[in-house]
Amino acid sequence: MTTPRIPATLISGDGIGPEIMEATLAALDALGSPFEWDPQIAGLGGVKTSGDPLPEATLESIRRTRLALKGPLETPSGGGYRSSNVRLREAFQLFANVRPARTIIPGGRFDNIDLLVVRENLEGLYIGHEHYIRIEDDPHAVAMATGINTRQGCKHILRYAFDAAVAQGRKKVTVVHKANIMKALTGIFLETAEQLYAAEYQGQFQFETMIVDACAMKLVLNPWQFDMIVTTNLFGDILSDLVAGLVGGLGMAPGANIGADAAIFEAVHGSAPDIAGKGIANPIALMLAAAQMLDHVKRVDLADRLRTAIDQTLNVDNVRTGDLGGGANTIAFTKALVARIKGGA
Ligand code: NAD
Repeated sequence: MTTPRIPATLISGDGIGPEIMEATLAALDALGSPFEWDPQIAGLGGVKTSGDPLPEATLESIRRTRLALKGPLETPSGGGYRSSNVRLREAFQLFANVRPARTIIPGGRFDNIDLLVVRENLEGLYIGHEHYIRIEDDPHAVAMATGINTRQGCKHILRYAFDAAVAQGRKKVTVVHKANIMKALTGIFLETAEQLYAAEYQGQFQFETMIVDACAMKLVLNPWQFDMIVTTNLFGDILSDLVAGLVGGLGMAPGANIGADAAIFEAVHGSAPDIAGKGIANPIALMLAAAQMLDHVKRVDLADRLRTAIDQTLNVDNVRTGDLGGGANTIAFTKALVARIKGGA
C-alpha cells in the first residue's frame, strides 16, 4: 500500500528562485519526496502575471495545504508594494521564525557551530506602521515608526522557543532584548520570558538574558557560548543574518515560518538579482529549508539523508558553488548531490 502524499504549495519565487527550486526538487525527487506539489506564484512573478504580488489563488492554496516551500520574493525598496513575505506572515499568523545555523564546511573560523535563532515574526518594530510627517521635499521632514509588542505575542513565541529547547535537548536559551533603553517595547518581552521560565520551565535548560548589542559582540567573539537565542522581530532579523554569516553566509541559511495553521519554509537570502539567470546560485539554503520541512512533517529520516548528502557533496566530493570558493555551477552541484543521495546518503 502506498502512503498518501502530503499536499504542499510550491512557490519558486523571483530572481534565482526558479534555479534553486529546480535543484531542490531534484534532490527531493531523488529522496522519494513525500509531497504533492501545488505550484503557485507570488512576488514580482505575481505582479507580472496577475498584477498582485500575493495572488488570491496562492493564498487559497496555502489555506488548503497549510504547508509551503517558497523561493525568494522580490520587494522593491522604498515605494512599490508591501513585502509579500510580511503579508504571508500576517495572513497565516506565522508567529515564529526559526533559523538553525550549523557549520557545514569544517576548518573555517567558526567550526562546530550548532545554534538555533527563534525570532518573533508578527510584532515589534518591524510591522510596517511607518509614517512620514512632511511636506513634499521639506528639508525638515520627519519619519516615524511605531512598534507593538503584546503580552500574548511574547508568551506565544517564548513558549514555542522554550518547548523547542526542551524537545531538542538544548542546554541553554538566551533571551535577547534592549529593555535598558526600550523599557516598554522590549521590557515586556524580557519580563514575560522571566515569568514564563520561572513558572513552567525552571531547571529544564539554562536561562540567560542579554542586551542585543552585547549579544552581537559576543556572537562574533565566542559563538560557542550560545545554544539557542529567542528574541523580538527586528533584533531577530539582524542577529539571524549575523549567525548565518558565522556558518558560511546566506547561501547556507534556511528558515521556517511557523504558525498554528500553516508553515512556510524558505531560504533566508533574497532573489539575488545580480546573479539571476547565470546558473551559479548556491541552492543549499533552500535545500536545508526543504529538510526543515521534512522534519516538520515528521520525515526526519529523509531530512537527515538530505543533510548528510549535502555535507558529503561539499566535504567528501569537494563540489561547491562559487560563493563557497568552488567552481561548480548550480546544475553540477545538484548532479553531485543527487548522485550522493542515490548512492545511499
Ligand atoms: P540577496 O540575499 O538577494 O543578495 C545578497 C548577496 O548575496 C548578493 O550578492 C547575491 O548574489 C548573494 N546571494 C544571495 N543568495 C545567494 C545564493 N543562493 N547563492 C549565491 N549567492 C547568493 O539580498 P538583496 O540583494 O538585498 O535582495 C534582493 C531582493 O530579494 C530584494 O527585492 C529583497 O527584498 C528580496 N529578499 C527576499 C527575501 C525572501 O523572500 N525571503 C529575503 C531577503 C531579500
